[in-house]
Amino acid sequence: MSNLYRLLCPSCEREFIREAVTLCPDCFYPTEIVYDYQAIGERLSQDAVERRPRDIWRYGELLPVPDSAPRLAGVGWTPLIEAPRLGRRLGSGSLFIKDDAACFPTLSFKDRVVAVALAEARALGFQVVGCASTGNLANAVAAHAARAGLEAWVLVPADLEPAKLLGTAVYGANLVRVTAAYDQVNRLCAEIAERHRWGFVNVNLRPFYAEGSKTVAFEIAEQLGWRLPDNVVVPMAGGAQLTRIANGFQELVILGMVPAHPVRLFGAQAKGCSPIATAHQLGRKSVVPVVPSTICKSLAIGNPADGHAALRAIARSGGGAGSATDLEIVRGIRLLAESEGILGETAAGVTVAVTGQLLEVGAIAPGETTVVCITGNGLKTLDCLDREIDLGAPLAPSLDAFEAHWDRLAGAA
Ligand SMILES: *Cc1c(COP(=O)(O)O)cnc(C)c1O
Ligand SMILES: [Zn+2]
Repeated sequence: MSNLYRLLCPSCEREFIREAVTLCPDCFYPTEIVYDYQAIGERLSQDAVERRPRDIWRYGELLPVPDSAPRLAGVGWTPLIEAPRLGRRLGSGSLFIKDDAACFPTLSFKDRVVAVALAEARALGFQVVGCASTGNLANAVAAHAARAGLEAWVLVPADLEPAKLLGTAVYGANLVRVTAAYDQVNRLCAEIAERHRWGFVNVNLRPFYAEGSKTVAFEIAEQLGWRLPDNVVVPMAGGAQLTRIANGFQELVILGMVPAHPVRLFGAQAKGCSPIATAHQLGRKSVVPVVPSTICKSLAIGNPADGHAALRAIARSGGGAGSATDLEIVRGIRLLAESEGILGETAAGVTVAVTGQLLEVGAIAPGETTVVCITGNGLKTLDCLDREIDLGAPLAPSLDAFEAHWDRLAGAA
């Protein structure tokens, strides 16, 4: 490992060198990556970052990857888009979209976390990698493994969207559909990782994987001109992304790369799987697992690994949480598409809907700078629109048929 970071147990401070350890075997505490900000500060600055290629590795010193590890170029640096039309519809005068629906190579923010986890997996000498996934992670692990020439095992709930299943198998990964919800699939992966020396990105490599999410925060700050927004709305499944976005903003302040500024974090979940949002709303200190039932399969984790950490990050920031019904999710997808020309997946529908609720109740004020994280591409979840959008009957190729069609529409309007 390079000397900029270490994998530690935060309780007993035992250090794990060249190992993939998620829980300290002595105290069962989740291990954490700890950085040497003094040394990082000597290498990292706004100028240094701006001279580097536009991908997640421009913040390489703040990621748990040795200098020598091979890195997949081109991941991240997705657009931060001003969204005045969506803002008007939702009641915000300063709304931005962080658009990871355009993330390379598999069109979701999971490309960030997998890029980091696989770079570390190769540094640790894993020949076989894998994951338990609700869909997007499956796509990302399969694609990144193909580019790295690694064997991949991807385990998923059997009932995922076809695009996410086919969009995994196509890369040559070993796709295993399991007749269970995500939480049991995850447990199975933990058991496999004990038997075989495989690197499961979100199981035994989880501490490295989770850190990749910080790059969303770094990019938002840089794209706003090296300043922090007032609010960020983030969809939550396992809760890692929200937690690490909060950490990422703090790190930039520690390093003096942005002026200190409080950022409120807001978490968004589907009503049919909202263990973190519900715990926040009820003022609970811990998350009570649920059995998911929602069209938003990418966020359907009933027992979130970083649920407690996400709750704490939300509370500390003075933020909040909300949830959206299946109907609101579909409306959110359509609103985003119609107002800003961005087709997000079901998780985007969740985030747009919850952002609207937060503005409506005044938890977010119209004049504050608010960034909405769109984390996955809607081409992967088109099935949820099937019954919502009427494509109409096909026309004969004649001007008469077209004019009659136009008249019909005008009459209906
Ligand atoms: C996985 C995922 C999330 C949530 O990430 P967590 O870190 O597990 O909370 C959000 N959006 C999409 C599209 C995802 O695939
Ligand atoms: Zn320990």
